[in-house]
Amino acid sequence: DSGVDFSHPDLAGQIWTNPGEVPNNGLDDDNNGLIDDVHGFDFHNWDGDPSDDDGHGTHVAGTIAAVANNGIGVAGVAPNAQIMALKAFGSDGGYLSRAIAGLFYAVWHGADISNHSYALYEDAAELTEMIQFAGAFDHLVVAAASNEGLNNDNSPAYPASYPFDNVISVAAADQSGNLAGFSNYGASSVDVAAPGVGILSTTLGGGYGTMNGTSMAAPHVAGVAALLRSVAPTASPSTIRQMLIDSAQPNAALVGLTVSGGTVDVFEAI
Ligand code: CA
Repeated sequence: DSGVDFSHPDLAGQIWTNPGEVPNNGLDDDNNGLIDDVHGFDFHNWDGDPSDDDGHGTHVAGTIAAVANNGIGVAGVAPNAQIMALKAFGSDGGYLSRAIAGLFYAVWHGADISNHSYALYEDAAELTEMIQFAGAFDHLVVAAASNEGLNNDNSPAYPASYPFDNVISVAAADQSGNLAGFSNYGASSVDVAAPGVGILSTTLGGGYGTMNGTSMAAPHVAGVAALLRSVAPTASPSTIRQMLIDSAQPNAALVGLTVSGGTVDVFEAI
């Protein structure tokens, strides 16, 4: 995503640390080709500091894993999950190649799940291959369906629309459980819906704010997937994906718009 605000009081302590890297010594201690990648890497600026200059990634990270029971702010869906910060985009945009590099890093360094709150309407062979590579290493890809109100069955948005069984595609639901007006959908290509309207989470500078989008829905599902992984550590991405679909809370308003015809239901899933 756009990185993470490590200093946010609801995110500090939730960030993955690379055990092989010594902070800020200007060396590639673990010989992975990247210098000082202590908490992930900034593939956008190509340095060891994936701090967030935009706010999007920090909001997404909070939904997944903000600290619970600390008396402030919000709690993530999976507050015992660790966030590996892989900055692929900046406030000035970015390149798909950097997101692909980030996914490679995630798989290489043992992340179980990656959240992809971005989409593009053009299929790229390199992204296809990297998603399949991730699947070969039992890595689950959670992807936002995108925000153009389109049917992804007809106009695929990637990576959400890849038909691989390690990819789960997420639409946004509003507070009534209906599909958000901006959300893409797809009876065969969008798996579940999750909350994506008026989502309160962490913002830059230690603050909190609401955002809308399938970008906000996907990390709810990534969080539920992390909880499932924690109670079923040997479950494959395919199994986790199917559990998320099978346990979704049925909603007539989502039938025909998603594979599951429902909204992700963490209690039922567990
Ligand atoms: Ca390194």
